[in-house]
Amino acid sequence: MDLYEHQARELFEEYGIPVPRAEVAHSPEEAREIARRLGGRSVVKAQVKTGGRGKAGGVKLAADPAAAQLTARHMLGMDIKGHTVGKVMLAQPVEVEREFYVSYVLDRAVGRFLAIASAEGGMEIEEVAATRPEAVVRIPVDPAEGVTTAKAARIADAAGLPPQTVDVLVRLWEILTREDALLVEVNPLVRTTQGRILALDGKVTLDDNARFRQARWGDEDDTHEDPLEAAAAAKGLTYVRLDGEVGIIGNGAGLVMSTLDVVAGCGARPANFLDIGGGASAQIMADGLSVILSDPAVKSVLVNVFGGITACDAVADGIVRALDSVRLTKPLVVRLDGNNAARGRAILDERAHPLVQQATTMDGAARRAADLAHAA
Ligand code: GDP
Ligand code: MN
Repeated sequence: MDLYEHQARELFEEYGIPVPRAEVAHSPEEAREIARRLGGRSVVKAQVKTGGRGKAGGVKLAADPAAAQLTARHMLGMDIKGHTVGKVMLAQPVEVEREFYVSYVLDRAVGRFLAIASAEGGMEIEEVAATRPEAVVRIPVDPAEGVTTAKAARIADAAGLPPQTVDVLVRLWEILTREDALLVEVNPLVRTTQGRILALDGKVTLDDNARFRQARWGDEDDTHEDPLEAAAAAKGLTYVRLDGEVGIIGNGAGLVMSTLDVVAGCGARPANFLDIGGGASAQIMADGLSVILSDPAVKSVLVNVFGGITACDAVADGIVRALDSVRLTKPLVVRLDGNNAARGRAILDERAHPLVQQATTMDGAARRAADLAHAA
């Protein structure tokens, strides 16, 4: 789960990383009041979980409280890269002399954390890395050793950051470990004309697997911008929407991934990833089918199950009972293999639903589902 900038700022403050004074407003009037408290001038910042707000008009300087109110009125409800602005943060403006970039990110490829730092902050780091790769340093961090003052000094030195950033680097690492984050990023970390170091913008991504012990951020995760993904998440399904036409349900992430590949190999595009895991109950099938069928792009659905602990007859039962509660509107191809496959197939044969057909191999099933999608 990504945190909002104002939540990241709250964490920075808690861990002793200097940040500008700031407060969150949900209405233009509140924005005006906050700007007044901040001393008149303010930076109005759209709170959306996406970067590049500055370029998209989501970061604006307001000269006085009345201007802050107007700016907030304009920003609230605005769309930034598909995210609707529901709140703004007002921060005390600072005079920036230099902008830096610092972050820690989990590098899954090497199973380690990486410190990324650059003396050229402000713009998106991907851009800097593309145009001036030598300006971005990447230093692995051994999770057992962490970032000591000595390590932080090496990172700052390698990136050409001023010595005052060392303390920030150490504290950022504390946030990463204690808050169960997969990413902490400050862009820009600035030096003001008075020589102060300040974190002007922050991004923190928490590890969802640690949600149980990070209760303070609440249960609601609004990172599901896609309504179908939100509906699936509400039902506890592992569903990712893609942009194809063949809906896919399988058991086990590996099998579902292979199914996506095989469908793509048949010249069709998968409409989603949906892993029902070990659960083959009628409820899970019905939930999965109803989410997939409500995607207007879906032309056919492929259920690919390898029976293990949950045997194929239980899966077939689940499908048959799901067909009682979900109105099937598109052809469904089912491939059952593994434990009790014959019994499972017999159950589906007996139900004899006109839109359901079976295939015995994964390739055959994918080919069939792709053909049906093309014919639709
Ligand atoms: P982002 O575009 O979503 O990354 O939003 P940021 O919060 O990083 O703001 C974009 C840019 O606005 C920063 O890189 C700064 O250059 C500038 N900015 C933000 N706050 C201030 C401020 O208080 N003073 C000054 N001078 N610039 C600011
Ligand atoms: Mn930024």
